[in-house]
Amino acid sequence: MGKKPAKDDTMEQLVSLCKRKGFVFQSSEIYGGVNSCWDMGPMGVELKRNIRDFWWKSMTQARDDIEGIDAAILMHPQVWVTSGHVDGFTDPLVDCKKCKSRFRADTLETEVCPNCGGEFTEPRQFNLMFKTFMGPVEDKASVVYLRPETAQGIYVNYLNVLGPSRQKIPFGIAQVGKAFRNEISPGNFIFRSREFEQMEMQFFVHPSEDRKWFDYWKEQRFNWYLALGIKEENLQFHEHGPNELAHYAKAAYDIEFKFPFGWKELEGIHNRTDFDLSRHKEATGVDLSFFDDQTKERYIPYIIETSAGLDRTMLTCLVDAYRKEIVRDDKRVVLGLSPIIAPIKVAVFPLVKKDGMPEVARKIYTDLQKHFKCFYDEKSAVGRRYRRMDEVGTPFCVTIDGQTSEDQTVTIRERDSMEQYRVASGQLAQVLTEKMGLGF
Ligand code: ATP
Repeated sequence: MGKKPAKDDTMEQLVSLCKRKGFVFQSSEIYGGVNSCWDMGPMGVELKRNIRDFWWKSMTQARDDIEGIDAAILMHPQVWVTSGHVDGFTDPLVDCKKCKSRFRADTLETEVCPNCGGEFTEPRQFNLMFKTFMGPVEDKASVVYLRPETAQGIYVNYLNVLGPSRQKIPFGIAQVGKAFRNEISPGNFIFRSREFEQMEMQFFVHPSEDRKWFDYWKEQRFNWYLALGIKEENLQFHEHGPNELAHYAKAAYDIEFKFPFGWKELEGIHNRTDFDLSRHKEATGVDLSFFDDQTKERYIPYIIETSAGLDRTMLTCLVDAYRKEIVRDDKRVVLGLSPIIAPIKVAVFPLVKKDGMPEVARKIYTDLQKHFKCFYDEKSAVGRRYRRMDEVGTPFCVTIDGQTSEDQTVTIRERDSMEQYRVASGQLAQVLTEKMGLGF
């Protein structure tokens, strides 16, 4: 196995691979780009969708106590007053008096500007919500916000979901969707952007059971990243101290990942108590309590929130999977992504472009497309085709050669071990499904 690249250039190499291979592009690149927004290319959109689907399935399909919703991005502006975002969703902003650079004061490690050593202005609070106007008139009364979190869409729909789903407490509501934050210092590629996607689940519990469910979800969510294929040594918990807790939280843990730029938050697990539902109840007059018809008790449920960033999880998967190694005197770059999330699961190659091999390979490719996202390639030497697939994380390649027409077998080549073996072409879909652990 080869050496890992030096810590500091891993991100550069990954960003370059993401562009070259069609994972992530800078938004509006031909206009000079917007560095806080990113576009997903053909590989990126598949990877991101696979992560989203894996989260969604583990939250909804695999459980009978969580329902899904998809709320609108634009909500009643009063929601954000009630939630505390209009007054409190702020970061302290400082400017360098000399070079005019802007920083988030709470993340600075020095008293002077890290760019030029200049003096800072006094910090002022900067609200992170994007504003726009609803309707033709641009005045104060028509201001609406792009949601800075998906959670509020869940709280305001809690009664709407409770009724039709016939759920009882404890139960949860899951949602995946875009969120927007006018971050002071976006950066580190897709780690922090101004437009991103969240995967949030709010679990409604009896107040006396908050600790139990908080511990349960902490463990569940950590294990989810392991199931996603993330190496355990790259994950850790960080408990929020009293000064770090958000205005709504009684207890909070972050799941952190070891990025090349340090241990950083990947997901937050929060005990939000009855803060949100009580505030919405007070503001609207709508009774958001729950009546337990067995115990005859009426109460406002506590909420245990699991809040993950989809783009940040995607970056985590890429960083965790990226490796450069030397095998048989040859350099290769591999994305060792779990087959569950790999953008292309199977590549199909004719060994050479003659002797009827492309026709057989095309047929096998079309059959496999019914089961997996596949890729067909007949250009250049087969070794180079393998390397190209390694770089985008394709776990299996299937090669059709001269023997195929004699005994209807093909060669499977595995990405990580580079092991090769023959299987009957009629069994391919089943063998590959089993190998990927996807369930046939
Ligand atoms: P941070 O301290 O990094 O600003 P936060 O504590 O404000 O994050 P939460 O409000 O708990 O984050 O959001 C939940 C999750 O949403 C985060 O763990 C992260 O994965 C994701 N997230 C938050 N802000 C961004 C962003 N600007 N870009 C990408 N993902 C984000």
